[in-house]
Amino acid sequence: MPAMRLCDIGIDEVLAIRCQCRRIVQFGRNALHQLGVPVETPIADIVPRLRCDNCGARTGFAVTIEATRDSSIHVDRKPPRAVIADPEKD
Ligand SMILES: [Zn+2]
Repeated sequence: MPAMRLCDIGIDEVLAIRCQCRRIVQFGRNALHQLGVPVETPIADIVPRLRCDNCGARTGFAVTIEATRDSSIHVDRKPPRAVIADPEKD
């Protein structure tokens, strides 16, 4: 799989970051772009810059690209489209 870039996140998808403390943060592509991240940035390059607001961790995040949850539609939980980082496989 080629390296996923920020611009590869679809408008109906989010970058989901799960910390080991169970905090989950989701970013849409526009949210990241507004933080000053260029759209051509490889998502794997964003991961080392992450810091958990809850516990302060800088490593150990599970990072995936997944479909935005639509609270008006009950759908089965789909597997993420792409896994950028999975600490459980290290
Ligand atoms: Zn944390």
